[in-house]
Amino acid sequence: ALKCGIVGLPNVGKSTLFNCLSSAKAQAANFPFCTIEPNVGVITVPDERLTRLAEIVHPGRIVPATCEIVDIAGLVKGASKGEGLGNKFLGNIRETDAIIHVLRCFDDDNITHVDGTIDPVRDKEIIDTELQLKDLETIEARLQKQAKVAAVGGNKEAKTEVGVLEAYKAALEQGKNARTVEFDSKDEVEAARNLFLLTSKPVLYVCNVDEASARTGNDYSRRIEDIAREEGAEVLVIAGKTEEDIASLETYEDKQMFLDELGLEESGVNRLIKKAYSLLNLETFITAGEMEVKAWTYRKGWKAPQCAGVIHTDFEKGFIRAEVIKYADYIQYGSEAAVREAGKLGIEGKEYVVQDGDIMHFRFNV
Ligand code: GDP
Repeated sequence: ALKCGIVGLPNVGKSTLFNCLSSAKAQAANFPFCTIEPNVGVITVPDERLTRLAEIVHPGRIVPATCEIVDIAGLVKGASKGEGLGNKFLGNIRETDAIIHVLRCFDDDNITHVDGTIDPVRDKEIIDTELQLKDLETIEARLQKQAKVAAVGGNKEAKTEVGVLEAYKAALEQGKNARTVEFDSKDEVEAARNLFLLTSKPVLYVCNVDEASARTGNDYSRRIEDIAREEGAEVLVIAGKTEEDIASLETYEDKQMFLDELGLEESGVNRLIKKAYSLLNLETFITAGEMEVKAWTYRKGWKAPQCAGVIHTDFEKGFIRAEVIKYADYIQYGSEAAVREAGKLGIEGKEYVVQDGDIMHFRFNV
Protein backbone atom coordinates (compact mmCIF):
# COMPACT_ATOMS: atom_id res chain seq x y z
CA ALA A 1 0.00 0.00 0.00
CA LEU A 2 0.99 3.60 -0.55
CA LYS A 3 2.80 5.01 2.46
CA CYS A 4 3.48 8.65 3.35
CA GLY A 5 5.67 9.76 6.24
CA ILE A 6 5.10 13.01 8.14
CA VAL A 7 8.32 14.68 9.27
CA GLY A 8 9.19 17.98 10.93
CA LEU A 9 10.71 19.39 14.12
CA PRO A 10 8.89 18.86 17.42
CA ASN A 11 5.85 21.06 18.06
CA VAL A 12 5.28 22.13 14.48
CA GLY A 13 1.90 20.37 14.30
CA LYS A 14 2.67 16.89 12.96
CA SER A 15 0.46 15.02 15.39
CA THR A 16 -2.32 17.54 14.93
CA LEU A 17 -2.25 16.95 11.20
CA PHE A 18 -1.89 13.21 11.62
CA ASN A 19 -4.94 13.17 13.88
CA CYS A 20 -7.21 14.81 11.39
CA LEU A 21 -5.81 12.75 8.53
CA SER A 22 -6.41 9.39 10.07
CA SER A 23 -8.86 7.84 12.40
CA ALA A 24 -6.06 6.59 14.62
CA LYS A 25 -5.35 8.91 17.52
CA ALA A 26 -1.88 10.21 18.14
CA GLN A 27 -1.35 12.28 21.22
CA ALA A 28 -0.87 15.95 20.45
CA ALA A 29 0.64 17.77 23.33
CA ASN A 30 2.77 20.80 23.89
CA PHE A 31 5.75 18.72 24.82
CA PRO A 32 8.77 18.03 22.62
CA PHE A 33 9.41 14.29 22.24
CA CYS A 34 5.85 13.53 23.23
CA THR A 35 5.14 11.31 20.26
CA ILE A 36 7.92 8.77 20.34
CA GLU A 37 6.23 5.79 18.74
CA PRO A 38 5.91 6.05 15.00
CA ASN A 39 2.16 6.25 14.63
CA VAL A 40 0.61 4.56 11.69
CA GLY A 41 -2.83 5.49 10.46
CA VAL A 42 -4.90 4.76 7.42
CA ILE A 43 -6.58 7.52 5.47
CA THR A 44 -9.25 7.08 2.88
CA VAL A 45 -8.76 8.96 -0.35
CA PRO A 46 -11.77 11.25 -0.85
CA ASP A 47 -13.45 10.70 -4.21
CA GLU A 48 -16.93 12.07 -4.88
CA ARG A 49 -17.15 9.96 -8.07
CA LEU A 50 -17.64 6.86 -5.93
CA THR A 51 -20.68 8.41 -4.25
CA ARG A 52 -22.21 9.47 -7.56
CA LEU A 53 -21.72 6.00 -9.06
CA ALA A 54 -23.16 4.35 -5.95
CA GLU A 55 -26.35 6.38 -6.47
CA ILE A 56 -26.69 4.65 -9.84
CA VAL A 57 -25.47 1.16 -9.00
CA HIS A 58 -26.76 0.82 -5.42
CA PRO A 59 -23.89 -1.47 -4.36
CA GLY A 60 -23.61 -3.32 -1.07
CA ARG A 61 -20.75 -1.04 -0.11
CA ILE A 62 -18.39 1.68 -1.26
CA VAL A 63 -14.67 0.98 -0.92
CA PRO A 64 -12.45 4.04 -1.33
CA ALA A 65 -8.71 3.90 -1.96
CA THR A 66 -6.51 4.14 1.10
CA CYS A 67 -3.12 5.53 1.97
CA GLU A 68 -1.02 4.65 4.98
CA ILE A 69 0.37 7.53 6.94
CA VAL A 70 3.20 7.42 9.44
CA ASP A 71 3.84 10.15 11.97
CA ILE A 72 7.61 10.20 12.29
CA ALA A 73 8.41 12.12 15.45
CA GLY A 74 11.67 12.83 17.19
CA LEU A 75 13.64 14.42 14.38
CA VAL A 76 15.87 17.15 15.81
CA LYS A 77 19.23 18.72 15.09
CA GLY A 78 21.82 15.97 15.50
CA ALA A 79 19.35 13.18 14.79
CA SER A 80 21.63 11.57 12.21
CA LYS A 81 24.30 11.32 14.91
CA GLY A 82 21.84 9.56 17.14
CA GLU A 83 20.77 12.58 19.16
CA GLY A 84 17.28 12.76 20.59
CA LEU A 85 15.31 9.84 19.29
CA GLY A 86 16.08 10.76 15.74
CA ASN A 87 18.31 8.04 14.42
CA LYS A 88 15.77 5.33 15.04
CA PHE A 89 13.11 7.30 13.20
CA LEU A 90 15.25 7.97 10.17
CA GLY A 91 14.85 4.27 9.48
CA ASN A 92 11.07 4.67 9.42
CA ILE A 93 11.36 7.26 6.67
CA ARG A 94 13.21 4.81 4.44
CA GLU A 95 10.09 2.68 4.17
CA THR A 96 7.84 5.46 2.87
CA ASP A 97 6.94 6.40 -0.72
CA ALA A 98 6.72 10.13 -0.07
CA ILE A 99 7.51 12.66 2.62
CA ILE A 100 5.13 15.23 4.03
CA HIS A 101 7.36 17.87 5.60
CA VAL A 102 5.41 19.98 8.10
CA LEU A 103 6.71 23.47 8.85
CA ARG A 104 5.58 25.71 11.65
CA CYS A 105 4.30 28.94 10.15
CA PHE A 106 2.25 30.15 13.10
CA ASP A 107 3.11 32.34 16.10
CA ASP A 108 1.97 31.17 19.50
CA ASP A 109 3.88 32.07 22.65
CA ASN A 110 2.25 29.19 24.48
CA ILE A 111 3.71 26.58 22.17
CA THR A 112 7.44 26.12 22.69
CA HIS A 113 9.70 26.02 19.67
CA VAL A 114 12.79 23.83 20.12
CA ASP A 115 14.97 26.59 18.68
CA GLY A 116 13.26 29.47 20.44
CA THR A 117 12.03 31.43 17.44
CA ILE A 118 9.68 30.88 14.52
CA ASP A 119 11.66 30.43 11.32
CA PRO A 120 10.36 27.78 8.91
CA VAL A 121 13.25 28.25 6.48
CA ARG A 122 15.77 27.45 9.19
CA ASP A 123 13.59 24.54 10.39
CA LYS A 124 13.44 23.11 6.90
CA GLU A 125 17.21 23.32 6.62
CA ILE A 126 17.69 21.53 9.95
CA ILE A 127 15.55 18.60 8.83
CA ASP A 128 17.07 18.58 5.34
CA THR A 129 20.57 18.53 6.81
CA GLU A 130 19.81 15.57 9.06
CA LEU A 131 18.36 13.61 6.17
CA GLN A 132 21.29 14.56 3.95
CA LEU A 133 23.83 13.46 6.57
CA LYS A 134 22.08 10.15 6.87
CA ASP A 135 22.16 9.76 3.10
CA LEU A 136 25.87 10.60 3.03
CA GLU A 137 26.44 7.87 5.60
CA THR A 138 24.55 5.38 3.42
CA ILE A 139 26.51 6.50 0.36
CA GLU A 140 29.94 6.29 2.02
CA ALA A 141 29.32 2.76 3.20
CA ARG A 142 28.05 1.67 -0.19
CA LEU A 143 30.86 3.45 -2.02
CA GLN A 144 33.54 1.65 -0.02
CA LYS A 145 32.03 -1.67 -0.88
CA GLN A 146 31.20 -1.05 -4.54
CA ALA A 147 34.46 0.74 -5.40
CA LYS A 148 36.30 -2.47 -4.53
CA VAL A 149 33.97 -4.60 -6.63
CA ALA A 150 34.24 -2.21 -9.57
CA ALA A 151 38.06 -2.12 -9.37
CA VAL A 152 38.57 -5.88 -9.21
CA GLY A 153 36.35 -7.46 -11.78
CA GLY A 154 35.48 -4.59 -14.09
CA ASN A 155 31.91 -5.26 -13.03
CA LYS A 156 29.70 -3.00 -15.17
CA GLU A 157 26.86 -2.72 -12.68
CA ALA A 158 29.21 -1.81 -9.86
CA LYS A 159 30.83 0.84 -12.07
CA THR A 160 27.47 2.37 -12.85
CA GLU A 161 26.57 2.41 -9.19
CA VAL A 162 29.85 4.03 -8.21
CA GLY A 163 29.17 6.80 -10.74
CA VAL A 164 25.71 7.32 -9.28
CA LEU A 165 27.04 7.33 -5.73
CA GLU A 166 29.69 9.90 -6.59
CA ALA A 167 27.17 12.19 -8.25
CA TYR A 168 24.95 11.98 -5.19
CA LYS A 169 27.86 12.53 -2.85
CA ALA A 170 28.90 15.72 -4.65
CA ALA A 171 25.36 17.13 -4.47
CA LEU A 172 24.78 16.20 -0.84
CA GLU A 173 28.08 17.70 0.21
CA GLN A 174 26.85 20.98 -1.24
CA GLY A 175 23.75 20.76 0.92
CA LYS A 176 21.51 19.67 -1.93
CA ASN A 177 18.93 16.93 -1.70
CA ALA A 178 19.39 13.74 -3.71
CA ARG A 179 16.14 14.42 -5.59
CA THR A 180 17.81 17.37 -7.35
CA VAL A 181 20.23 14.99 -9.12
CA GLU A 182 19.05 13.63 -12.46
CA PHE A 183 20.40 10.64 -14.35
CA ASP A 184 20.14 9.96 -18.07
CA SER A 185 20.58 6.26 -18.58
CA LYS A 186 18.11 3.60 -17.54
CA ASP A 187 20.83 1.72 -15.64
CA GLU A 188 21.74 4.79 -13.61
CA VAL A 189 18.12 5.53 -12.79
CA GLU A 190 17.70 1.93 -11.66
CA ALA A 191 20.88 2.01 -9.53
CA ALA A 192 19.76 5.31 -8.00
CA ARG A 193 16.35 3.94 -7.09
CA ASN A 194 17.85 0.90 -5.40
CA LEU A 195 19.69 3.11 -2.90
CA PHE A 196 16.43 4.24 -1.24
CA LEU A 197 17.94 7.54 -0.20
CA LEU A 198 15.85 9.61 2.17
CA THR A 199 16.28 12.87 0.28
CA SER A 200 15.42 11.29 -3.06
CA LYS A 201 11.83 10.67 -2.02
CA PRO A 202 9.24 13.07 -3.37
CA VAL A 203 8.37 15.75 -0.84
CA LEU A 204 5.34 17.89 -0.11
CA TYR A 205 5.88 20.89 2.16
CA VAL A 206 2.95 21.64 4.43
CA CYS A 207 2.95 25.12 5.93
CA ASN A 208 1.00 24.96 9.16
CA VAL A 209 -0.53 28.42 9.57
CA ASP A 210 -2.97 29.99 12.02
CA GLU A 211 -6.67 30.17 11.22
CA ALA A 212 -6.58 33.77 10.00
CA SER A 213 -4.11 32.78 7.28
CA ALA A 214 -5.88 29.56 6.27
CA ARG A 215 -6.91 30.90 2.88
CA THR A 216 -4.19 33.39 2.10
CA GLY A 217 -1.08 31.99 3.75
CA ASN A 218 1.30 34.38 5.53
CA ASP A 219 4.84 35.77 5.30
CA TYR A 220 6.29 32.55 6.72
CA SER A 221 4.53 30.34 4.20
CA ARG A 222 5.42 32.64 1.33
CA ARG A 223 9.11 32.20 2.13
CA ILE A 224 8.67 28.45 1.92
CA GLU A 225 6.77 28.81 -1.34
CA ASP A 226 9.69 30.75 -2.82
CA ILE A 227 12.14 28.02 -1.85
CA ALA A 228 9.86 25.24 -3.04
CA ARG A 229 9.53 26.94 -6.41
CA GLU A 230 13.32 26.87 -6.79
CA GLU A 231 13.33 23.19 -5.81
CA GLY A 232 10.40 22.37 -8.04
CA ALA A 233 8.59 20.98 -4.99
CA GLU A 234 4.92 21.20 -4.00
CA VAL A 235 3.58 23.30 -1.13
CA LEU A 236 0.30 23.22 0.70
CA VAL A 237 -0.93 25.80 3.21
CA ILE A 238 -2.99 24.21 5.98
CA ALA A 239 -4.31 25.56 9.28
CA GLY A 240 -3.67 22.43 11.33
CA LYS A 241 -5.49 23.42 14.48
CA THR A 242 -8.52 24.57 12.50
CA GLU A 243 -8.50 21.37 10.48
CA GLU A 244 -8.63 19.48 13.75
CA ASP A 245 -11.75 21.45 14.69
CA ILE A 246 -13.31 20.75 11.31
CA ALA A 247 -12.51 17.04 11.58
CA SER A 248 -14.25 16.88 14.94
CA LEU A 249 -17.56 18.09 13.47
CA GLU A 250 -20.11 15.35 12.96
CA THR A 251 -21.95 16.12 9.76
CA TYR A 252 -20.83 16.95 6.26
CA GLU A 253 -23.03 20.09 6.31
CA ASP A 254 -21.39 21.42 9.47
CA LYS A 255 -17.96 20.84 8.00
CA GLN A 256 -18.91 22.57 4.78
CA MET A 257 -20.30 25.55 6.70
CA PHE A 258 -17.06 25.92 8.64
CA LEU A 259 -15.05 25.77 5.40
CA ASP A 260 -17.32 28.37 3.78
CA GLU A 261 -16.75 30.73 6.67
CA LEU A 262 -13.01 30.40 6.14
CA GLY A 263 -13.41 30.91 2.40
CA LEU A 264 -12.11 27.43 1.64
CA GLU A 265 -13.66 25.10 -0.92
CA GLU A 266 -12.21 21.91 0.42
CA SER A 267 -10.63 20.79 3.67
CA GLY A 268 -6.85 20.92 3.87
CA VAL A 269 -6.82 17.22 4.52
CA ASN A 270 -8.56 16.49 1.24
CA ARG A 271 -6.25 18.85 -0.60
CA LEU A 272 -3.28 17.13 0.98
CA ILE A 273 -4.29 13.64 -0.08
CA LYS A 274 -5.01 14.79 -3.62
CA LYS A 275 -1.62 16.53 -3.78
CA ALA A 276 0.11 13.41 -2.48
CA TYR A 277 -1.56 11.44 -5.26
CA SER A 278 -0.42 13.77 -7.99
CA LEU A 279 3.04 14.01 -6.43
CA LEU A 280 3.38 10.26 -6.81
CA ASN A 281 1.73 10.16 -10.22
CA LEU A 282 -1.10 8.05 -8.88
CA GLU A 283 -4.54 7.80 -10.41
CA THR A 284 -7.72 5.88 -9.72
CA PHE A 285 -9.76 3.46 -11.76
CA ILE A 286 -13.08 2.19 -10.53
CA THR A 287 -14.95 -1.09 -10.56
CA ALA A 288 -18.72 -0.81 -10.18
CA GLY A 289 -20.86 -3.82 -9.42
CA GLU A 290 -23.78 -4.88 -7.27
CA MET A 291 -21.47 -6.00 -4.53
CA GLU A 292 -19.29 -2.92 -4.37
CA VAL A 293 -18.17 0.27 -6.00
CA LYS A 294 -14.45 0.32 -5.46
CA ALA A 295 -11.50 2.61 -6.18
CA TRP A 296 -8.16 1.12 -7.22
CA THR A 297 -4.85 2.92 -7.30
CA TYR A 298 -2.42 2.64 -10.20
CA ARG A 299 0.47 4.62 -11.59
CA LYS A 300 -0.23 7.05 -14.42
CA GLY A 301 0.64 5.48 -17.76
CA TRP A 302 -0.13 1.91 -16.78
CA LYS A 303 -1.82 -0.25 -19.39
CA ALA A 304 -4.95 -2.34 -18.93
CA PRO A 305 -3.26 -5.66 -18.01
CA GLN A 306 -1.09 -4.01 -15.36
CA CYS A 307 -4.15 -2.36 -13.85
CA ALA A 308 -5.97 -5.70 -13.91
CA GLY A 309 -3.04 -7.01 -11.88
CA VAL A 310 -3.81 -4.50 -9.14
CA ILE A 311 -7.04 -6.41 -8.51
CA HIS A 312 -5.53 -9.86 -8.84
CA THR A 313 -2.38 -11.28 -10.41
CA ASP A 314 -4.55 -13.85 -12.24
CA PHE A 315 -6.40 -11.01 -13.95
CA GLU A 316 -3.12 -9.80 -15.38
CA LYS A 317 -1.83 -13.23 -16.41
CA GLY A 318 -5.04 -14.25 -18.13
CA PHE A 319 -5.96 -10.82 -19.47
CA ILE A 320 -8.12 -10.93 -22.61
CA ARG A 321 -9.67 -7.48 -22.84
CA ALA A 322 -11.12 -4.65 -20.83
CA GLU A 323 -14.53 -3.05 -21.08
CA VAL A 324 -14.18 0.62 -20.29
CA ILE A 325 -16.79 3.22 -19.49
CA LYS A 326 -15.79 6.82 -19.06
CA TYR A 327 -17.03 8.26 -15.79
CA ALA A 328 -18.83 11.15 -17.51
CA ASP A 329 -20.69 8.71 -19.78
CA TYR A 330 -21.78 6.56 -16.86
CA ILE A 331 -23.24 9.60 -15.14
CA GLN A 332 -24.82 10.98 -18.32
CA TYR A 333 -26.52 7.76 -19.44
CA GLY A 334 -27.37 6.60 -15.95
CA SER A 335 -26.69 2.88 -16.27
CA GLU A 336 -24.26 0.42 -17.78
CA ALA A 337 -26.98 -0.87 -20.15
CA ALA A 338 -27.74 2.63 -21.41
CA VAL A 339 -24.05 3.30 -21.97
CA ARG A 340 -23.79 0.07 -23.94
CA GLU A 341 -26.85 0.96 -26.02
CA ALA A 342 -25.42 4.37 -26.84
CA GLY A 343 -22.28 2.66 -28.13
CA LYS A 344 -20.13 4.30 -25.51
CA LEU A 345 -18.70 1.16 -23.98
CA GLY A 346 -15.10 0.77 -25.09
CA ILE A 347 -13.58 -2.64 -25.79
CA GLU A 348 -9.88 -2.26 -25.18
CA GLY A 349 -6.87 -4.53 -25.54
CA LYS A 350 -3.45 -4.97 -23.97
CA GLU A 351 -2.12 -1.62 -25.15
CA TYR A 352 -4.88 0.53 -23.67
CA VAL A 353 -3.51 3.15 -21.29
CA VAL A 354 -5.97 3.42 -18.43
CA GLN A 355 -7.24 6.94 -17.64
CA ASP A 356 -8.13 8.42 -14.29
CA GLY A 357 -11.79 7.71 -13.44
CA ASP A 358 -12.22 4.88 -15.96
CA ILE A 359 -14.82 2.34 -14.89
CA MET A 360 -13.21 -0.98 -15.76
CA HIS A 361 -14.44 -4.48 -16.29
CA PHE A 362 -11.75 -7.02 -17.07
CA ARG A 363 -12.24 -10.20 -19.12
CA PHE A 364 -9.66 -12.89 -18.47
CA ASN A 365 -8.87 -16.60 -18.78
CA VAL A 366 -8.28 -18.61 -15.67
P1 GDP B 1 4.28 17.78 16.80
O1 GDP B 1 5.24 17.71 17.94
O2 GDP B 1 4.91 18.33 15.57
O3 GDP B 1 3.54 16.52 16.57
O4 GDP B 1 3.22 18.92 17.21
P2 GDP B 1 1.73 18.78 17.77
O5 GDP B 1 0.80 18.45 16.67
O6 GDP B 1 1.74 17.91 18.97
O7 GDP B 1 1.44 20.29 18.15
C1 GDP B 1 2.14 20.93 19.21
C2 GDP B 1 1.23 21.96 19.85
O8 GDP B 1 0.95 23.00 18.88
C3 GDP B 1 -0.13 21.40 20.26
O9 GDP B 1 -0.49 21.99 21.49
C4 GDP B 1 -1.07 21.87 19.15
O10 GDP B 1 -2.38 22.04 19.63
C5 GDP B 1 -0.45 23.19 18.74
N1 GDP B 1 -0.72 23.53 17.33
C6 GDP B 1 -0.65 22.71 16.26
N2 GDP B 1 -0.98 23.36 15.12
C7 GDP B 1 -1.24 24.64 15.49
C8 GDP B 1 -1.65 25.83 14.78
O11 GDP B 1 -1.85 25.82 13.55
N3 GDP B 1 -1.80 26.97 15.53
C9 GDP B 1 -1.61 27.00 16.87
N4 GDP B 1 -1.78 28.15 17.54
N5 GDP B 1 -1.25 25.91 17.57
C10 GDP B 1 -1.07 24.74 16.90
